[in-house]
Formats: sequence, structure tokens, C-alpha cells
Amino acid sequence: MTFTSFTEKVASWQRNHGRHDLPWQVDRTPYRVWVSEIMLQQTQVVTVLAYYGRFLQHFPDVFTLANAPVEAVLSLWAGLGYYSRARNLHRCARELVLRHGGRFPATATELAALPGIGKSTAAAISAFCNGERVAILDANVKRVLVRYHAVHGDIRSAATERQLWSLADRSVSSLADVQSLSPYTQGLMDLGAMVCTPRRPLCQQCPLAAECCALAQGIVDRLPVRAAARATRTARAMWLLQGVDADGRVFLIRRGDQQIWGGLYCLPDYCDRETAVAAGQALGWELQAELAPVSHTLTHLDLSIHRLVYRSDSKRGRKGGLHGYWVTREQLHTYGLPAPVKRMLQLPVAASRGGAQIVKNDSNK
Ligand code: SF4
Repeated sequence: MTFTSFTEKVASWQRNHGRHDLPWQVDRTPYRVWVSEIMLQQTQVVTVLAYYGRFLQHFPDVFTLANAPVEAVLSLWAGLGYYSRARNLHRCARELVLRHGGRFPATATELAALPGIGKSTAAAISAFCNGERVAILDANVKRVLVRYHAVHGDIRSAATERQLWSLADRSVSSLADVQSLSPYTQGLMDLGAMVCTPRRPLCQQCPLAAECCALAQGIVDRLPVRAAARATRTARAMWLLQGVDADGRVFLIRRGDQQIWGGLYCLPDYCDRETAVAAGQALGWELQAELAPVSHTLTHLDLSIHRLVYRSDSKRGRKGGLHGYWVTREQLHTYGLPAPVKRMLQLPVAASRGGAQIVKNDSNK
């Protein structure tokens, strides 16, 4: 096995069997590649395809993105998850306009100094758009390298990360010509996504099969190694106040950037029922119904979401110390709403999962 043989096989396979018609492969500008790379972090291509075109339609370049309010960006991101990516994208666009005149820096090192652009994303932008000979190392590429070289260390450890960067660097350095840089870089991504998949990799179709150490050793299904993750899942109950006024408007608040669903709009939330009911009273709202909880799973958190439905005659959202907005049904789609809240607001109250349980009116308005 040589690094040259590895890179040649990957580049040649990509030219013949890789993906060539993804929207971000057409008219490859740093802006388009950047948006796609950020969207693709922890997200599958098929999911990103549903968002990418719409996002580019609204924000065709870095200037429109920088000039937009962050709420508009979050609104188009709603449902993709990991919302800090959207906030960083927006922050980065502003920095690019303010400090770089809207132009992307020409090297991966400079790109990686921008907010939200990691080393691998910076390399992907610079390799595809500037022809810079730099290595990428996203999750798909890590899996290919780990198996090809039979790396046995825990894939989450810093030592394995260093080892993989070293292998990735040596590989890209061995490329015979710079014309192969783009197919090689894309080929690594495609191989990881299409052939060397997490489960049931298609080794018999893999251009690397003859030299793959994991395949030779019969340990493909044991790599990458993941040390047992600590039990980090927690459960949390959340009480949402759904305030509806006489005109059918819904009361929304903007969540803090550091909270779950940071920057998105949500019904006011509380961590226990007592506090939620007290908040409803402070607002002068009238409790109409308490709905059975619905479950929502986040990466490390199982949420049990309870909903208290209130009626309010007030059209102002500042009463009770709560700053928010009364939003009509027609306006709701312009607000970035977390998926479960979106689902709740689109459903008629009586059709909520678990059914509705009417409780006695709260007379303390
Ligand atoms: S031969 Fe199998 S395990 Fe090895 S790189 Fe190819 S798909 Fe992955």
C-alpha cells in the first residue's frame, strides 16, 4: 500500500462512480460550498437537499446573508437542528463582509479563523475553490481512513484524531497532480457516504478493497472503535404556555442563544407546572386546558413537553415581565420555530397526541 495508490484510486473512482450532480457541486463558489459544508455537519445529504435550495434562494450570496436578521436565517434553518450552526453562519457572513469586503480568504488557515468554520470545512472550501492542497477529515473520511489503515484507537480520542489528520495530510501530499485534488477530495466524501458506510459497507464494490487493512484482517465491522459512551442522556419536563388572544394570535418569545433551540421562537417555557401556572396568572391569562404531555428526543435529552393552553384578551406581550410577540397564524411560517412547537401549533388542540384533558379554570386572572 502506498499513499499515492490510495489517492489515485479514490480520485479515479470518483470520476467514474462518484456524485457529480449535487446542487453545491454546480457553480462551486466558496459561498455555496461553505453553506453546504455547514449544513452537512451531522446531517445526511438527503435531508440537506430539502433545505439547501431554499436557503440559497433567500440568501444567494454572503451580502444578503449578512444583511438579513438572524431570525430570518433561523427560520429557514428550522428543522435542520444544531441551531448554533445557523447563528455562526450568520455571524461569519457579517465578519466576512465587515473585515474581508465579502470575499472569502484564499487559504484554509485563514478560513479556519472565521467563526464556525472548522479545519475540515475550511479545507473543503479551499481545496474545491482555491485548488489548495489541504486535507479534509469529516466523519465519512475518518471512517474510510480508519478502516483502510486499520486504526484501532477510539475514534473520539484526541490521539486518534491526530493520527487521522496525519494520514489525511500524507495522502493529500502524495497526489500526483493538482487536477486530481477535487475528485480526490470529493471521492473521499462519496466513498464514505456511498460505499464505506457505517453499517454493511459495500467492500466488494470498493476501489480500495485490494489494499484495505480492515478487510484483509476481517475486522471491518469492528471499526471504527468507539469507547463506550458515558450515559449522558437525561430526561427533562418542560411546561409550555400557549397563549391565544381573541384574534387567534399566538404568543411567542425568542429563546436565548445558549438555551435549547437557541435563537428560535417558542411558547414561553418553564421547568415545573407551578411556575408555569404562576406565570400564566402574572400575565393575566385564563387557563383553558392542560394537554397530555408529548415526548421529544434531542441528542442527549429526552423532553416531556406539557402544554397549558391560555386565553388572553391582551394583545401586548409585556405584561407579567415577559417580552414577546403576538403572531397571527399566517405569520407563523416566517418565524423560526422548533419542530415540536411547529407540530403543536399546526395541530388542532383536540388532536394533540395523548388527547386533551380539560382542567378547571384558573380564576386568579
Ligand atoms: S474495502 Fe470495505 S472497509 Fe475497506 S475502505 Fe472499502 S468499503 Fe471500507
